[in-house]
Amino acid sequence: MKTIAVLTSGGDAPGMNAAIRAVVRTALDKGLKVMGIQRGYSGLINGELFEMQRHSVSDIIQRGGTILRTARCAEFLKEEGRKKAADVLRVFGVDGLVVIGGNGSFMGAQKLSKLGIATVGLPGTIDNDLSYTDYTIGFDTTLNTVLDAINKLRDTSTSHERVSIVEVMGRDCGDIALYSGIAGGAESVIIPEKGYDFDKLCKTILEGKLNGKMHNLIILAEGVGGAAELAKKVEEVTGIETRSTILGHIQRGGSPSAFDRMLASRMGVRAVEALIEGKTSRVVGIRDNKIVDDDIDDALAMPRKFNEELYNIANMLSK
Ligand code: ATP
Repeated sequence: MKTIAVLTSGGDAPGMNAAIRAVVRTALDKGLKVMGIQRGYSGLINGELFEMQRHSVSDIIQRGGTILRTARCAEFLKEEGRKKAADVLRVFGVDGLVVIGGNGSFMGAQKLSKLGIATVGLPGTIDNDLSYTDYTIGFDTTLNTVLDAINKLRDTSTSHERVSIVEVMGRDCGDIALYSGIAGGAESVIIPEKGYDFDKLCKTILEGKLNGKMHNLIILAEGVGGAAELAKKVEEVTGIETRSTILGHIQRGGSPSAFDRMLASRMGVRAVEALIEGKTSRVVGIRDNKIVDDDIDDALAMPRKFNEELYNIANMLSK
């Protein structure tokens, strides 16, 4: 292994920069040449590669987003596009590739590795939707962003004795809603894994009011439906003023938390080590606070285990 390359792909996540920094500095420390690829698989196909030095990643550990930019690339979904990408890597003399991204980016990496490119994936996604790892890079920072918003909404909804519905990201995976619901003390958490019963939700709100609750906070994952529509229905049935807030893309931004910087740094180091050890088709994760790497096929085939215990905690503590 003489030269490796790194790219970020799919949705951006806070901590991607810390991961790039760890990959670049580990590679240089081990005597490898390291290339940055701009704009994910799209930039790879277009040959947007440049050599990186230690200073290329100076002053980025605290920055959200990704200095390499990110993209979604339709061409890479086709065999022809991926062959082009593999050719570009060969032309630039790249022996190993680190892909920082989510589930889709990993499926791309999996296919690229079958074309003879040694590939290691780092889980950079705010969704925490990859089963093989306890946490993904960016998830913790997003939780803190959501909590900050919830704290502010609590002030105003308590003052007005309102119901507040906060829509957070999560199409198929409700972890952002579940974790921020527990940490933010929400009365109800609505997630795609469980769905919800509208009548029961209204009953909880009305009982809360009778029990002296001064406000009612509902965290809704986007995959279950729209917050504005739900707020209208809740207000109609309960008669309590109900407001909706859609947090949207602010959930992606911001300076990464200490947890995400640590995770990204530890994972970035492991990714380069795995390539040096000759591993060819891996993804790096964290389980029980240990950094692990798994075969990419096994990792992607792992069924998602929903954390019932956390869901029960959310329900019990919200009463
Ligand atoms: P996030 O979880 O934040 O959305 P992601 O990595 O899942 O990130 P996607 O848009 O799903 O984001 O994937 C990023 C890119 O990876 C796609 O634009 C495409 O180029 C490539 N990709 C996705 N799915 C596949 C696939 N099945 N085969 C090959 N390449 C894929």
